Amino acid sequence: MITVEEALEHVGRCARQLAPSEVLLREALGLRLAEQVVSTVDSPPFDKSMLDGYAVSADDATPTRRVVEEVIAGAVPHHAVEPGTTIRLMTGAPLPDGADAVIKHEDTKLLDESTVQLPLQLPVSGAGMMKRGASFRTGQQLLDAGRRLSPIDIGLLAEIGRDRVQATPAARVAVLATGNELVEGGQPTAAGQIYNSNGPLLMAGLDEACATPIDLGIGLDDVEALKERMRMGLEADVLVVTGGVSVGVMDLVPDVFQELGVVKVFHGVRMKPGKPVWFGVCEGDEQRTLVFGLPGNPVSTLVSLEVFVKPALRALAGGDFSPPKSQRGVLTHPIGHRGGRPTYYPCRIDFGCREAGMPTVETLAWRGSADLAALTRANALAILPAGDCQYEAGQEVDVITL
Ligand code: AMP
Ligand code: MG
Repeated sequence: MITVEEALEHVGRCARQLAPSEVLLREALGLRLAEQVVSTVDSPPFDKSMLDGYAVSADDATPTRRVVEEVIAGAVPHHAVEPGTTIRLMTGAPLPDGADAVIKHEDTKLLDESTVQLPLQLPVSGAGMMKRGASFRTGQQLLDAGRRLSPIDIGLLAEIGRDRVQATPAARVAVLATGNELVEGGQPTAAGQIYNSNGPLLMAGLDEACATPIDLGIGLDDVEALKERMRMGLEADVLVVTGGVSVGVMDLVPDVFQELGVVKVFHGVRMKPGKPVWFGVCEGDEQRTLVFGLPGNPVSTLVSLEVFVKPALRALAGGDFSPPKSQRGVLTHPIGHRGGRPTYYPCRIDFGCREAGMPTVETLAWRGSADLAALTRANALAILPAGDCQYEAGQEVDVITL
């Protein structure tokens, strides 16, 4: 059986960046930008008022002014500000000719309908307003290719009038949960049945990873039924199947993968949980699909998602392929570990509580790969290396955060 490191090398070799395409801004959050964004406009596009107030020339010291016009945001002034006059502006309104400052409405006093008294202290030129292009100018480089688009980036793209952008698209990931015992939430269960928790867990995890999950529902442990669902899944960039990859009589998934032309890269990895994980690639005429078969126990599914699927998604999304990021922490309690496989053990890492300069790590009470509930308190997985070992409190471990 291969090691996690070897398995990751295979996944990294097979996971290639998806071809960049035009993506709607609304759907671009978290995607990698595939163009240099250069502004096609000045921002702001005109000298604009930053206040509700009165447009003045900073040179004109007349204390009371005739108000010749009122301009709201979205409108344009029809007059210029001349000595002895002013124009009332709402926030966002363009400055009239002849004005170079705006006095806050609260600092003025309306004497009658069209006369306003200004404060004795006149503003300096530029006060209360923003000059055209003060934020950025036409032709200015705004965002570099390769960055992951944040809500701020998306706001900035919208500011220059874009509604779409060149980006590496979100990977389409088909999710199929297999098992005769499975029932979807909201339906009654019969004796021997359980609810499908892997499907919703994966769909949510993929959303969080900025992929586009496609729910293929539940596949029965039947070769034809599995083939039919998986064929749909092979139209996606990634197919993730859970259950049926081990060595039981109903573990049909590996054979069905191969019958559908998925070329196996590995089956079985020295790790706990997650040992039966299957990985392969299907090269279709138009579609290349990475195929993961994850063991059915929910924590095995979660660990395989973190350790294998998410790194693959990062590479498809245009990032560097890298194993899940680990860091060192210090155990708060002793823990015993046995067996020939490294174990991914649910724990709580506390960055606010440090020992020897490292965050503390509390391993949680856990009943193994079917015990998902124990992970509701977990925010990380401690990696306990293979071999029988008694870890003491204060000892260092590697941890990957969830
Ligand atoms: P399998 O990998 O198919 O042998 O399943 C291993 C264990 O995980 C069995 O106890 C299954 O009932 C359980 N299991 C499989 N798929 C799911 C699922 N989608 N949701 C919850 N438990 C599952
Ligand atoms: Mg099964």
